Amino acid sequence: MNLEIKIAHHAGYCYGVERAINIAKKALSAGSQVVSLGPIIHNPIVVKELSSSGIRVVESVEEVPPGAVVVIRSHGVPPDVYRELEEKQAKIIDATCPYVRRAQVAAKKLSDEGYTVLIVGEKDHPEVVGIKGYAGDSAFVIEKTEELSKVPYQKRLGVVFQTTQSLETIDIFAAEIVKKAFELRLFNTICSATTDRQNETREIAAESDVVIVVGGKNSGNTKRLYEIAKGINPNTYHVESEMDLKKEWFIRVEKVGITAGASTPKEIVQRVAEAVKNLA
Ligand code: SF4
Repeated sequence: MNLEIKIAHHAGYCYGVERAINIAKKALSAGSQVVSLGPIIHNPIVVKELSSSGIRVVESVEEVPPGAVVVIRSHGVPPDVYRELEEKQAKIIDATCPYVRRAQVAAKKLSDEGYTVLIVGEKDHPEVVGIKGYAGDSAFVIEKTEELSKVPYQKRLGVVFQTTQSLETIDIFAAEIVKKAFELRLFNTICSATTDRQNETREIAAESDVVIVVGGKNSGNTKRLYEIAKGINPNTYHVESEMDLKKEWFIRVEKVGITAGASTPKEIVQRVAEAVKNLA
């Protein structure tokens, strides 16, 4: 049986992740002691490679060695982290993705203008934690519409979204949130890289027998691609690398679609495609 493999055009690093990796590598070539505050990207394979090239991951400001160069990853951080790093006299290299920055600025603007800020996203995701730092003390974070019951009716409510949420999320939440305030202001802070990737994933899921989503198990945007594809095509599998593929997924299969999260390098996607060819 002839196997057709279609790789999503948008598979591979998004703009923000590629930019963050390049910024970190540049800092390294300056010969400095470089650490990243949290893994630069949500992909354990790439993080391992970066670590062997000398970019050590630290999990908190306390772990930053004195005088080190600290790379802020694409997810960004809350403002108090900049202050703490400055107090430690660390040299800050800021690789916050401009789309994430845009969400932080929107949250701050809403808070400064007297809106209670509502962030729709994953509570513990570093990007959301960072945005919340700009959103004022009264900000709420919710992931599901049911959680809106915890948000009291507001005179002025301002809404921002985690950049990797889907456009359907805006539709679903906007319809419910409008009941929670006299005045509502909503910023669509979803980034275009996310929207393009999700749209292409929908197309691939609809036209393939099997869909493989490649990306870190800890990557929020990869998980979302998996959920979108799985909703359209039940034969959807999430793998971190070619090692996770199983032969039985490809029995009597003619068309395999491959998509990947924003933190998945193209080489890993290619390796997965090669391995699918050999297994099928
Ligand atoms: S997914 Fe979008 S917001 Fe996140 S790093 Fe990539 S380009 Fe930036």
